[in-house]
Amino acid sequence: MTRELRELSPLDGETFRFYCCGPTVYGPAHIGNFRTFVLQDVFRRTLELSGLKAYHVRNLTDVDDKTIRDSQAAGKKLTEFTSFWRDRFHEDCEALNNLAPHLEPSAVEHIPHQIKMIEELVEKGHAYSSEDGSVYYKVSSFDHYGRLSRLDQRELRDGASGAVTDDEYEKDNVADFALWKGRRDEDGDNFWESPWGQGRPGWHLECSAMCREYLGDTFDLHSGGVDLVFPHHENEIAQSEACTGCKMAEHWFHLTHLLVDGGKMSKSAGNFYTLTQLCEAGFSPAELRYVLISAHYRQPLNFVAKDKDGNENFPALAGAKQALQRLAKFEQSLVEQAGAAGARGFEAALEVENLGSFADSLEALREDLNTPDALGRVFTAIKELKAADLTPKQATVELAGFRVVMEALGVELPKEETGCANVPAQITEMAQARWEAKQSRDWGEADRLRDEIAATGWEVKDTKEGFEICPKS
Ligand code: AMP
Ligand code: ZN
Repeated sequence: MTRELRELSPLDGETFRFYCCGPTVYGPAHIGNFRTFVLQDVFRRTLELSGLKAYHVRNLTDVDDKTIRDSQAAGKKLTEFTSFWRDRFHEDCEALNNLAPHLEPSAVEHIPHQIKMIEELVEKGHAYSSEDGSVYYKVSSFDHYGRLSRLDQRELRDGASGAVTDDEYEKDNVADFALWKGRRDEDGDNFWESPWGQGRPGWHLECSAMCREYLGDTFDLHSGGVDLVFPHHENEIAQSEACTGCKMAEHWFHLTHLLVDGGKMSKSAGNFYTLTQLCEAGFSPAELRYVLISAHYRQPLNFVAKDKDGNENFPALAGAKQALQRLAKFEQSLVEQAGAAGARGFEAALEVENLGSFADSLEALREDLNTPDALGRVFTAIKELKAADLTPKQATVELAGFRVVMEALGVELPKEETGCANVPAQITEMAQARWEAKQSRDWGEADRLRDEIAATGWEVKDTKEGFEICPKS
């Protein structure tokens, strides 16, 4: 709101409560959506690793123009249609190592809350109904309208900023927006009873109602991609603040868009990528996550999908693959230097707040969530530590600090590549478990797993960096 850096501390002195506008569940989320959701996840992890308690609410937009239109086209009931896409979204989030929000309210389950809020707005003179059973917000009734997006009144009057959408029916002023949309034939079965007749809620109102229900009149921070500043968040403020008389959110956090090969992502341009597609092309969710955090949230991030000859071979992801392998190698060398003490590293670092050479990286995240700076500092520290001769005790501290920063970034490092192709996933998992057993000096379990693997015709061998699996000779 102020365009300044402000210190974050919970309004209630205890828990930092924040709301993120969630996905519209009518198709697969694209990697641009995930830039926003991954950085919001790093934001939460940074709060938590800094010792704050966080409460993260992210909604599901499961009733709006798009979900209704596409469920009708698919011949499915709205909830059947949206729950399918909700589940796909959850799978992608999990693969990308995003923590689940503490609460994920669904818009379609909060229609009574939305109706109640509209009634209050009508009562207070901020909304009016039209003959077709729709209800509009009267923008001129709210003095602060346009403050977040810094619109001036002229822009609003002329509707020059995209406020007018063709699905809004009979309003007094172009800037006014729908709180409730009177029933139309093309909505099919998707209508609800209200004091203004049958209809359905407007999109902006859904978030206002769910924020109020779960976070109260004022909460710490509200977030979304930059496209949501106007009109979505401007309208949320107008609705919520006119209703409650309180400031809606103490801070606003907007994430700049992801571009693909220098342009906007769109289905027609053929540059609309999903996680599934990138995995099919041989890349891992961790590699995508790494790319998504490699730029600062206030800068656009250009995802390079095609090389300079126009071949779609994802140079950005190939670079991330290498970076992750370097990080994994470094971690492994610290594990070896730390010896037996290394296993306890992560918790130890949090207890003593000693992150060794990695303290600067966490600091970079605390300072305006500077993810590229945090990564840059990790690689600088690695270079210095490689040249140093560490005692096991020093290596333990460094290992713990390194793991805390990886945890803040949500980066999962690849386990050592195996020496042979076509190893069944189950065998790799067993070898992984054996490696972990060895790390925690559980020799009995490690031997047991080695024998179990051998019984299937595979052999696991120790290497300097980890292990490799080969067919038994
Ligand atoms: P939607 O599913 O369209 O409601 O969007 C979910 C979230 O993704 C919102 O916070 C959007 O602002 C954000 N978003 C949409 N497109 C992009 C993009 N290209 N880059 C980053 N975030 C985006
Ligand atoms: Zn929202």
